[in-house]
Parts: sequence; structure tokens; C-alpha cells
Amino acid sequence: MMFEHPAFDSHEQVVHASDEETGLTAIIAVHDTTLGPGLGGTRMRAYDSEEAALNDVLRLSSAMTAKAAAADLELGGGKAVIIGEPEKKDEALLRAYGRAVDRLAGRYITSVDVNTDVSDMDIIADETPYVTGRSDGLGDPSPITAQGVMYGIRACIEQVTGRQSLADVHVAIQGLGKVGTNLAEELLDRGATVSVTDIHDDHLEPFEEVSDARIVEPDSIYDVDCDVFAPCAFGGAVNDETIPRLNCDIVAGAANNILASESRHSQVLHDNDMLYVPDYVLNAGGLITVATEYFGGTREEAFAEAQQIESRVHRLIEQAKEQDITVLESAQRYVENRLATTSQQPTQAVSSR
Ligand code: NAD
Repeated sequence: MMFEHPAFDSHEQVVHASDEETGLTAIIAVHDTTLGPGLGGTRMRAYDSEEAALNDVLRLSSAMTAKAAAADLELGGGKAVIIGEPEKKDEALLRAYGRAVDRLAGRYITSVDVNTDVSDMDIIADETPYVTGRSDGLGDPSPITAQGVMYGIRACIEQVTGRQSLADVHVAIQGLGKVGTNLAEELLDRGATVSVTDIHDDHLEPFEEVSDARIVEPDSIYDVDCDVFAPCAFGGAVNDETIPRLNCDIVAGAANNILASESRHSQVLHDNDMLYVPDYVLNAGGLITVATEYFGGTREEAFAEAQQIESRVHRLIEQAKEQDITVLESAQRYVENRLATTSQQPTQAVSSR
């Protein structure tokens, strides 16, 4: 039953979309449109069951509300899943999906996610204007995400040490993919030292000859004696097994859902004097990029917006100190407050001629 579902979280609307001719089976979840239309990517996956797909889409869509609100965007939370083998994705299926998005009349805006890319968004755009992350858009968001994370790390360093510079700061980066590689370069450019790891040796190559970069084995990254541990590979990297091994003052990275158990592990890190800033605050550069594209902005504007993450992190940490709460709780309160104050504003009357 939907309303009793553990991940239901008072979703405004959950739509099951199907199309017999193309075999489309999709779920579109619109969590909260208080601040604006729900924006979130569409992922395609051969889920084991409809229940698994529903669970994923509800969880991800609620998370988008928090990410957009924390990033001061005029957007709500939404997400969609297409159930099926990604290899079966074709133009007819994507067009049918585009029509399903269109029927929501702008309450949901879609974009790229796991197993969907810019060329898929181009096809969807033939059926609906409510799509962003297109091939003629602002391009790969990863450098903007990485820059946002770097600014967030700089704010954390200032809060912990009082220093306004990243020079000689040591950051251990787990995962040298699109974000991790850009983050390592941003940090090195600012005089930091990085320890880096990846399960793919070719991702390490660009750092082999770099004097301020140390390459470590994937499992050793948790033990690095450093200032910042930056997970940029997968969710759940910080958990009951890895926390006792961490040798850092700050946990701040790009991966979604860094903490295996969000509120409990945030408290454990806090109790162990490790500063943790929620990933959705730090990695908002990706959302900022597709949102900026949707509203007709430029890549430069998206980079400028991602810089705001630095002041946002300062504000959240200061509030956490004042109220003696974790930074996660501080971010949650900020999100709740934004939603509450916006929903209390009277709806503008539409004048009729
Ligand atoms: P990616 O797939 O390009 O990079 C992930 C990297 O992690 C790969 O190089 C992979 O080989 C490596 N990796 C996987 N398992 C590993 C392990 N056990 N140890 C070490 N390395 C390992 O992904 P990405 O786009 O760089 O994103 C990284 C994370 O940030 C993801 O969790 C993603 O959801 C999140 N994120 C990305 C963006 C963006 O703009 N790309 C925005 C927001 C959040």
C-alpha cells in the first residue's frame, strides 16, 4: 500500500506510467513542489521487482527536495525510474516516456541519471519541454560539482582550523571518476596534497607523476592520516566498519549518501570530533547545472552559483555550533524552514480579464 510505504514520506504525487506498444513501465515520483517544480533525473534499471523500483524512486525523490531546498533553488523534488534492461531503451520507449512526463504539465522536470544520457534527453525533448541536461545544454556537470565540493571543503577547513587557504591541506579522495579527478585537480591547483585511490588503474595515471599526489590502495584510503576524507565513488562508504579507521577531522565528499545510516553515523562522527557536512549540500553543483540550463542560464552562471556552496557550508556549520546540533540537523532545519516559510506565503491570485 502506497500510503503506508516506509519511503512514502508524504509524496504529493506518484504516477505509474505505462505504454503497451513500446513496453514502457515507469514510475514518476513528485515529492514536494512547494519551492517549484520537482526536478530530478530518470534512471533506467532492471529492478528485481516493482517494489524495489518504487522504493528507489521514492527515496531519491525525497532526497531531491532536500538537495534543491538546501541549494536555495526555486525547485522541488522529483525523480523517475524506467523499469527495464537499459539495452532495451530505444527511441519509441523514450518518446512514450516523454509523453508521460508531459502529462504532468511541468510539475516534474526530468534529466539524466544512471543509464540515461544527453542523447536520451534530446529524444524526450521531442515530446515535452520539461526536460534538461540536453546535448545543446550546459554539458557535463561534473567539473561544476567538483568545484562546489572544493569550495565546501575550504569552508570546512576554515571552520576547523581558522585558515582560509587549502595550501598544505591533505585530502584523501576515494574514487577518481568524473568528479573525483576534477576535485583532485582543483585541490592540487590550490596547493593541497591529495591521497587518491581508484579500482581502475588507468584513472590513477594522471596523478602518477604529480609530486603532491600520493596513490594508495583502494582499501587503504580509510586509514590515511589526513585533514579531509572525501568519498567520491559510492554511497555508504562511511559505516560502522570504516568510521573507526578514519584518521581525519572532516568528512566531505561528492558521493550521494556517503553515510550508511544518515542520522546515526552523522551523530557518531560528531561524537568523535569529525565534522561531517551532508553530501547533498556539497554535491549540489550537478543539480545547479541542470537547473541553470533549464532556466536558460550559462555555464559561467552555474559555476558562480556553485561557489555559493562555500558560504552555505559556513552558515550551516555556524548554526550547528550555536544550536549544539550536527551539521546534518542544521541542514535539515534549514530545508524545513525554507519549505515552511514558502508554504505560508499566500498564493498569488490569478487575475482574470
Ligand atoms: P564516476 O562513475 O565517474 O566515478 C566513480 C569512480 O569511483 C570511478 O572512477 C570508479 O572506478 C571509482 N570506484 C568505484 N568503486 C571504488 C572503490 N571501491 N574504491 C575506489 N574507487 C572506486 O562517478 P562521478 O560522476 O564521478 O560521481 C561520483 C559520485 O558523486 C557518485 O556517487 C555520484 O552519484 C555523485 N555525484 C556526482 C555528480 C556529478 O556531477 N557527476 C553530482 C552529484 C553527485
